[in-house]
Amino acid sequence: MKKHNFYAGPSILPEYTKQQMAKAVINFAGSDLSLMEISHRSKEFQSVMDEAMALVKELLNVPEGYSVLFLQGGASLQFLMAPFNLLKNKAAYVNTGSWSTKAIKESKYVGETVEVASSKDKNFSYIPKDIKAPSDADYLHITTNNTIYGTEFNKIPEVNIPLVGDMSSDILSRPVDVSKFDLIYAGAQKNIGPSGATLVIVKDSALGKTGRVIPTMLDYNTHISKGSMFNTPSTMAVFGALQTLKWLKSIGGVPAMEKINKEKSALLYKTLDESKLFKANIPAKEDRSRMNVTFVMAKGYESLEQEFLDFATSKGMVGVKGHRSVGGFRASLYNALPLESVKALVETIKDFEAKH
Ligand SMILES: *Cc1c(COP(=O)(O)O)cnc(C)c1O
Repeated sequence: MKKHNFYAGPSILPEYTKQQMAKAVINFAGSDLSLMEISHRSKEFQSVMDEAMALVKELLNVPEGYSVLFLQGGASLQFLMAPFNLLKNKAAYVNTGSWSTKAIKESKYVGETVEVASSKDKNFSYIPKDIKAPSDADYLHITTNNTIYGTEFNKIPEVNIPLVGDMSSDILSRPVDVSKFDLIYAGAQKNIGPSGATLVIVKDSALGKTGRVIPTMLDYNTHISKGSMFNTPSTMAVFGALQTLKWLKSIGGVPAMEKINKEKSALLYKTLDESKLFKANIPAKEDRSRMNVTFVMAKGYESLEQEFLDFATSKGMVGVKGHRSVGGFRASLYNALPLESVKALVETIKDFEAKH
């Protein structure tokens, strides 16, 4: 049966990425070797890494003076590497959910960490406004899209200090002004490629200022000086990322992607807002994520939750169960998910309503 993949991560990949990866597993770049068995120092793989870095710069309009890296350890390791490399005086954080909370925890291991805004009071169902960052903080950390709760900074806060952004679940989904950030990081497995790589974009001049001794593997400069090849990179994951970046470029790049993402999310939210059985979790339209749409059964219909999940599964919908900490449902509409899949989900919702 045709499957519609709404998993939150690892998640749907473009058909192009899967086809190219399948070929490369057997015969990579005409080498008569598998991508899995070729040295990362081979000229064939070196060009994969070079091209992937260059395409990130091109697609996100990364200004001069920034380095692009493909590291390992996930966004979760970046929670620690960010303060280790950038926190001198103190770090400011906005707490918009589980991932921000984890980032704050790691920063506290490193130095003074202040939470300057939070939406915890309403179970992370909104994005705090009028965020003020202390002028003596080294950076303000934000989680641009909150994968679990389904909120997103539709406007990046205007502050007088550099930003650090966890963009794991919305990178490349919309244009971003990289120059406002000292650091952007994103686990690859949501919008970039298969799991196993973490994209880092870091401003070179922001580094080396903390006075702290940084262990080799935790130091961005180690990886910058070796072009992300200080140690063995995740060759499969970087190759997969490159294919997705090429696909994204072929469809018109990030601005074209944003247009499609707006259309996809608008269609689903409209359906939920008009529904009597279902309700979107996030009340304020401007705070709703375009990447992860969270919703629940409306008041009085809670008992239908399992029945809807079974019904959706029977229609080929995959991964619509909500995160265990939130419950209800979540449909992740990442870049690679076609509009056609959102239409199929909308039809499923409407068919279910017609039965009740
Ligand atoms: C998935 C996710 C993470 C964790 O990523 P890992 O690569 O599993 O460490 C962190 N932040 C956000 C916003 C995420 O969506």
